[in-house]
Amino acid sequence: MSQDESIRASEMLGGQGEKVLSPALDLLEHISEPIGKYPYQGWESLYREQLDYDYFGRTTHSVNCTGSCTWKVYVKNNIAFKEEQYADYPDINASLPTYNPRGCQKGANYKEYVHGPQRLKYPLMRAGARGEGKWRKASWEEATSYIANKMVNAISNYGPDTVTFYSANPAKFAITYTGGVRLANLIGAVVCSFYDWVSDLPPGEPITWGVQTDSCEAADWFNSKYIIVWGSNILETRIPDAHFLTEARMHGTRIVAIFPEYNPTSIHADMYVPVKPGTDCALALCMANVIMNEKLYDETYLKQYTDMPILVRMDSGKFLRENDMVQDGSPDKFYVWDLSLDRPALVPGTKGTLNTIGWTLNLGSMNPALEGTFTINTLSGEIRVTTVFSLLKQKLATYDPPHVSVITGVDADLVTQIAREFAKTKPARIIGGAGTNHHYHNDLMSRSHILLAAMTGNVGIQGGGFDYYVGQERFWPEDGFVKLAYPLGRSKQRFQPTTLWTYVHAHIASEVNNLWPRPMIDYIRESVSNGWMPLYPEGTLDNGKSPKVLIIWGANYLNQAKGFESILTNLWPKLDLIVDIDFRMNTTGLYADVILPAASMFEKWDLSVTDLHSYINPFTPIIEPQMDSKTDWQIWQLLAKALQDTKFSFTDILPGGITLTRDFSTLVNDFTENGSLASDKSAGQCILDNAVETKGMTMDGINQQPRRFVATHEERTSDIKEGVAYYGFQRMYELKRPLSTLTGRQQFYIDHQWFLDFGEQLPAYKPPVDEDKYPLRWNTPHGRWSIHSVWRDAKYQLRLQRGRPIVHLNPAEAQARGLADNDVIEIYNDHGKIVAQLCISQRIPAGMAHMYHGWERYNFEKGGFQSPTTIRMKPTQLVGGYGQLEFRFNYWGPTASQRDTRVNIRKYIS
Ligand code: SF4
Repeated sequence: MSQDESIRASEMLGGQGEKVLSPALDLLEHISEPIGKYPYQGWESLYREQLDYDYFGRTTHSVNCTGSCTWKVYVKNNIAFKEEQYADYPDINASLPTYNPRGCQKGANYKEYVHGPQRLKYPLMRAGARGEGKWRKASWEEATSYIANKMVNAISNYGPDTVTFYSANPAKFAITYTGGVRLANLIGAVVCSFYDWVSDLPPGEPITWGVQTDSCEAADWFNSKYIIVWGSNILETRIPDAHFLTEARMHGTRIVAIFPEYNPTSIHADMYVPVKPGTDCALALCMANVIMNEKLYDETYLKQYTDMPILVRMDSGKFLRENDMVQDGSPDKFYVWDLSLDRPALVPGTKGTLNTIGWTLNLGSMNPALEGTFTINTLSGEIRVTTVFSLLKQKLATYDPPHVSVITGVDADLVTQIAREFAKTKPARIIGGAGTNHHYHNDLMSRSHILLAAMTGNVGIQGGGFDYYVGQERFWPEDGFVKLAYPLGRSKQRFQPTTLWTYVHAHIASEVNNLWPRPMIDYIRESVSNGWMPLYPEGTLDNGKSPKVLIIWGANYLNQAKGFESILTNLWPKLDLIVDIDFRMNTTGLYADVILPAASMFEKWDLSVTDLHSYINPFTPIIEPQMDSKTDWQIWQLLAKALQDTKFSFTDILPGGITLTRDFSTLVNDFTENGSLASDKSAGQCILDNAVETKGMTMDGINQQPRRFVATHEERTSDIKEGVAYYGFQRMYELKRPLSTLTGRQQFYIDHQWFLDFGEQLPAYKPPVDEDKYPLRWNTPHGRWSIHSVWRDAKYQLRLQRGRPIVHLNPAEAQARGLADNDVIEIYNDHGKIVAQLCISQRIPAGMAHMYHGWERYNFEKGGFQSPTTIRMKPTQLVGGYGQLEFRFNYWGPTASQRDTRVNIRKYIS
């Protein structure tokens, strides 16, 4: 090779053309114009044309995965044929890991749905019995006018509160979600909650912090020095963010993984702690015991930011209140024992001092006693009082490591070691997950986790705290969403906690169980009659009224429905009309009366956010809605038009006596605000324009590049700061701003009478509910190959597993039942049966049957994914009228957990 030729070769290989001979290239014989010598070049065109495209666009996926990843989709001949991560999130700062690129293997192949056989192509109306699978094609006009007439019939004969709307989560698709809620607001229908219903709401957060959740974004994990990943299988279920955990570990963060089963997150931890399922709360309280006994807690922090110094009456277990001490005193003002004055003093920042000058957690010269008992003169005489901290200390004394080791299966020395490490390594954080929160006593689980974070002074600091990511959680541009969703105002909307609604109408209330001192129906009656929880239709418990119309969109109600068999048997026959709006056939659609085909995620404008990052990115209509599908925003307008055509009007009396005339003859203009909100894009712009987080942003602008939020709502607990990863409770910690709890601080003591009756005034361990008398705990975690039910019918994901529902079982359990790997098995208990295939797996402990969640009804030969489950509500989650414990849509209401279900397994003989 000549010197010139070598230089040219070096340039071809990416060099800068320096005149340096490459020894490797010296060995190559130079061939001039090698391509030109080939007679046939068709193969090159073939590959080139495969990647050739007409244009590309930006989108994401509304599957409630918490990902909210921005994707670039290439289109050729109106076919979306290739997906690629966009990778253009602006970095927060150079020292934190980047969010780019972001995605998962499922999102990388959403196109399989867009042009696949699973798509619903045109409106369908049932032509046989419900669930029989017989359908006929209908026009949009026929389908929407049928729905409208059924709705008007239900409203005029039974009342507007018999018409029920259900969807899941504005954070995953704001415009799609808001369309249905907006129509419900205009016609007086009931909107059902989702976050508590799917048991993703961690009740310990509203109980302790007065928030739904307020978690850090994933980049802040990198700021932690110690992370306990507790029931959150990040490596498998939070794929776009898993690298933040592994990068933190490479950076020196110690990672401890606590799960009953050995899973991918356990593999990437420094320590794996196998715990018996459902006993995590005992483990957490045992750690708190060690921290308490060894005085590893942060005393100054506890005095300032928690209710630990607040005085409690020893005669009643209630807080000492101002109205105990002073005529006409407030029931919402509380005392501490001020050591500097040696007498009780009102503590600042409580609900009773709300919005007064100096509403703050700042204690000034006050020095509250953390421990002790004191004698106090009250209006009713002398009483003894003590502090929350003293009561907690007594409580924690019962959770010593040797005793708890028997409960949890975790070695006493090991739990002591973890407790010490957690308390001494700051900042430290616990990442909680569905693994603990899908248990019946989920409130006690999250309260105990938060207790650990607060005792060690980690809540409110960068890199520390308790953070939780299940479901797409809070919607960041809050006020924009409210503006679009509730044109008549949020106060005029009927809201329903779905767990209670389903429990009552599916007659699960009639099941006998021995969990509570009184029958469950007594607690429900008391809660509803006190106005703590709404139950629609109004008067259900007395007049036996029942819902008549159920409209579901962008969610798979039946697939998620605990008590599946009871719902089909008892609730479904009460409904005159069930409508499912989706892009694909799912379990809900199978049992619906009318199915409306929605546009896919590549065919509409929408907005996506998540708590795992602090950006907003859009969906855009990269291609037209396929076949006869329409975007949800357009479908709601068609339904508004069909309702308008009925010319119906009525006088609606809302709870609280607000009277409204609802005139359907103007419904389309009301829905579109005289046409200004007719397009999907204009609806999205309305959200952006009316939220502090997105001020100044445009739909076109965020289509150019995702944008980081510019501010945070008042209800958030922290500001968003340039160059800083978002984390929670900074306003409480740095600005001494009170929380929205009764005591204004992190509240571990709840003196509501029901909590006292149940012995849950403080975090306490209660064993899993073993009402089902079967030997195996039924564990149904999120998995790798689907997001809920989406991708359970997608061949490329199915090819990566056994292609049908699988139950993982420990070898000893399989052997005891004479079962071999791949056997077709029946899973059964008193609630239902399903047929699946066995996978024998060492990583699953004995006593547990494990099936990844989300399989559709049509994936099973027999039964449905939720067949073995029922609904078990906790009376304490029906409480209201107490500070932070007021029913609030998706913030506070009963959860429908499922992991305390027990089953057995046998070989299936068809
Ligand atoms: Fe990201 Fe969710 Fe799409 Fe996966 S499915 S790429 S996690 S948005």
